[in-house]
Amino acid sequence: MNFGPGKLYPNHRYIIKRHTTEITKYIEGHLEWKSKDFAPLKQSLRISLRKQQHGRCVYCRRKISIERKNTAEDIEHYLDKSKEKYRKWAFSPVNLAIACHPCNMQKSTKDMGDATIALALGLTANAGEFRWIHPYFDDYFENIEIIESWIYIIKANAPKGDRAKNMIIDCKLDQIQTIEAGKKFVLDRIDKAQRLALKCFDSNPSRSKKLIEYAQILTKEGWKHI
Ligand SMILES: [Zn+2]
Repeated sequence: MNFGPGKLYPNHRYIIKRHTTEITKYIEGHLEWKSKDFAPLKQSLRISLRKQQHGRCVYCRRKISIERKNTAEDIEHYLDKSKEKYRKWAFSPVNLAIACHPCNMQKSTKDMGDATIALALGLTANAGEFRWIHPYFDDYFENIEIIESWIYIIKANAPKGDRAKNMIIDCKLDQIQTIEAGKKFVLDRIDKAQRLALKCFDSNPSRSKKLIEYAQILTKEGWKHI
């Protein structure tokens, strides 16, 4: 399975360059991230990043399903844009990626950077110690191996083993396997109930009806039965 590129390159740099006026206003505090002035820039960024990341989340590397209004996908700032010290990097090409909602929620406003060094040297691979694997400065697959069924393993001799470990724990990537197994369990039960209902549809209609109802309950609230 292709889990996307190990390391990203800021291919979307040219998109950002086309919007320097709005970006300057943002950095100076005259525009907010949510401003509709940024809508075209955000849309172009999404398309570019989605393509570059093969539609996968930068952290868990699972496919992000694109729903209406891109609600399943977040433009992710590695260094949190809501922190004043990182505001100037809100549109830095090496600070932007796309992430799925669950990862973005786990990451929340955690501080990924070493502000003192980064502020002095600029946002480069040498800007101090980062907390998680950096999408542009580190190679994901030099550090983490994903075994199918979503088991995340820190590689032996991982150059950034500590960052990989922090990311797996903070982002709760170690729980994905359990969640997926639970989902499969429920789906299998729904499938079994539906097949049985079909089988006894003529011979035992009341049993068939009960099985269909059971399948419907599992479909609606299957997570409660995991
Ligand atoms: Zn994710």
